[in-house]
Amino acid sequence: MKEAMFYTRESGDRVRCGLCRFRCLIVDGARGICGVRENRNGVLHSLVYGKLCAENIDPIEKKPLFHVMPGSRSFSIATVGCNFRCRHCQNYSISQVPRNSRIAGEDRTPEMIVKSALDGHCRSIAYTYTEPTMFFELAYDTARLARKAGLANVFVTNGYISKEALATIAPYLDAANIDLKGFSEEFYREIVHARLSEVLDSIIEYRKQGIWLELTTLIIPGLNDSERELQGIAAFIVDNLGADTPWHVSQFYPTYQLTDRPRTPPETLRRARDIGLAAGLRYVYEGNVPGRGGENTVCPDCAALLIERYGYVITTNRIVNGACPDCNKTISGIGM
Ligand code: SF4
Repeated sequence: MKEAMFYTRESGDRVRCGLCRFRCLIVDGARGICGVRENRNGVLHSLVYGKLCAENIDPIEKKPLFHVMPGSRSFSIATVGCNFRCRHCQNYSISQVPRNSRIAGEDRTPEMIVKSALDGHCRSIAYTYTEPTMFFELAYDTARLARKAGLANVFVTNGYISKEALATIAPYLDAANIDLKGFSEEFYREIVHARLSEVLDSIIEYRKQGIWLELTTLIIPGLNDSERELQGIAAFIVDNLGADTPWHVSQFYPTYQLTDRPRTPPETLRRARDIGLAAGLRYVYEGNVPGRGGENTVCPDCAALLIERYGYVITTNRIVNGACPDCNKTISGIGM
């Protein structure tokens, strides 16, 4: 447990949390929407500091980040808790723990995390699986140490962090994969229990901070797969983030509270990819359907196959010094 960053005292013993865009007003003895920040006598605490529920060495492709040091290892950590309550959460056993439960996790310090990353020959630390904003204090302390040790830091996030929290960690954050889960307020309200406008604003803030961005949309049949929504997402990315921003369109499978929908047909992902490319995006990837060619990186100028993937595994990488070997086109990203 650690005193939280980003809160103000209100009248009585109430506090206002400023870590994420919900900005919860929390009375003494209560927790915020996320269930991992608690007001104790007018002092807000992070209950998850140093309490890891997951730590693994993953390929960076698993985040997914396809344009950040391809083929490298990323030390991936999480604590329990999330500020969203997505009905289709794929990590619900650790993100959606009861909001008033005891916090479980293995004790780890930032120093231990950085050492594990170095010992595991990782080139980055990924704050992932659940929502990294919810363990901000641990991520911030770890990211600063990681940077000193020569490691990159990457967030895999729902994009609901407050501007002030993002500005604080941005100097140490190299890249982020942000979920843009749909493109209607109705979808965000009913499936995610959050607001689309805040997510869009946050994504633009990430870009303003100079953080490399890749976006992911899990395509759910009948809920967010209309032409209008997919075109809306693609146009938002082109207009606000630039055509070099990778967009991952991923297959949904029935899980948690959303079991009345089928898996996303591969043809739908191909259609989404075509919509993204037609809108001007240069890198659109199909996720969770290995072996269909939609995971490969192709030169946007000469169409040469540059990186061939099967799932999270790179089988061929022809990029030389960050460029296409055939036409010398620079391929955007970090350490390409
Ligand atoms: S981080 Fe948690 S307590 Fe703070 S505003 Fe967000 S949901 Fe509320």
